[in-house]
Amino acid sequence: MVEDELNLARPLRFNLEQEGYEVWSTPSGKEALALQAKIPFDLIILDLMLEEIDGFEVARQIRQRDQKLPILMLTARTAEQDRIHGLELGADDYIVKPFHLRELLLRVERMIERTTWYATDARPARQIAIAGYVVDLEKLSGSGPRGPMQLTALEADLLDALTSQPNRVLSRSELLEKVWGYHSEVETRTVDNFIVRLRKYFEEEPDQPRHFISLRGKGYMYVP
Ligand code: CA
Repeated sequence: MVEDELNLARPLRFNLEQEGYEVWSTPSGKEALALQAKIPFDLIILDLMLEEIDGFEVARQIRQRDQKLPILMLTARTAEQDRIHGLELGADDYIVKPFHLRELLLRVERMIERTTWYATDARPARQIAIAGYVVDLEKLSGSGPRGPMQLTALEADLLDALTSQPNRVLSRSELLEKVWGYHSEVETRTVDNFIVRLRKYFEEEPDQPRHFISLRGKGYMYVP
């Protein structure tokens, strides 16, 4: 947990420990990066506004080292651009301050369950072909015209949800529930940001997508 507001960090840590998690806590982005290089964490809870090295830079560097480590951002209610930027850098989800503790704990539990699921070697391979790329949804990797690629677990889940129902419009809330596993009206922008990420991977011209199509007011559709 990287959080420099001690009034928030202390109770958060206490409650996570009550849930049985082993928690490493630091107010410093710099120290967080040093710790992450040494310790195999299951999840990073990352405040964005930090002294010295901010949360964006921490997220960016963590993603360079590890594509799969889940990152949950803590952001301010008013800072929509921050959330978008954080998701673009590779964070998996965000929670807006002030948040309900119960919601954060549920989010953490779900994100860790997902990682554990992806870490299991026994899963059968599921390969899909998209725009000249072959992607292994279990290994979270693929290769194609622009070389090898790595996906995060959430990107792979979204890809799975969209490609398993080609040419069908899926609404944002449907995708949110399917992929993130919760229902919320506030955070549908999360889906939009992940679609932007998929377009960057797979579309020749991300601004004029041919495979990951948005339909105004309806949702998204995958066209093979
Ligand atoms: Ca802060």
